Amino acid sequence: MSDCIFCKIAAREIPASIVHEDDEVVAFRDVHPEAPVHLLIVPRRHVASLAEAADADGALLGRILLAARDLAVSEGIDASGWRLVTNRGPGAGQTVLHLHFHLLGGRGMTWPPG
Ligand code: 5GP
Ligand code: ZN
Repeated sequence: MSDCIFCKIAAREIPASIVHEDDEVVAFRDVHPEAPVHLLIVPRRHVASLAEAADADGALLGRILLAARDLAVSEGIDASGWRLVTNRGPGAGQTVLHLHFHLLGGRGMTWPPG
């Protein structure tokens, strides 16, 4: 998608603090962090949200989850705990219409979210 900011970050057309990338998955620091560690983990390919994921995207989604597992360790938040969140739709707070998972950690977090 030519006008999608996360597609452009994945293609390195606009700058971001990228902490992981492979052939299918890119992770970078959120520009407005809500926690000491706040990463966004995205598929390189444009998918608008989890609702638009296809059954055939199962392996891709699994790779995103495993990237979160590994990034929690490399970011030093595994022992203290972390949260992985995806927002689907404006009602849930989705503002960028390219599937992304927020990896948050480095501070205490309450449950349930607001
Ligand atoms: P959402 O609200 O859609 O779940 O999350 C979108 C996230 O993307 C927000 O936390 C916001 O701070 C982040 N964000 C928006 N634009 C940019 C950008 O250009 N670069 C980076 N690194 N993060 C962005
Ligand atoms: Zn996109």
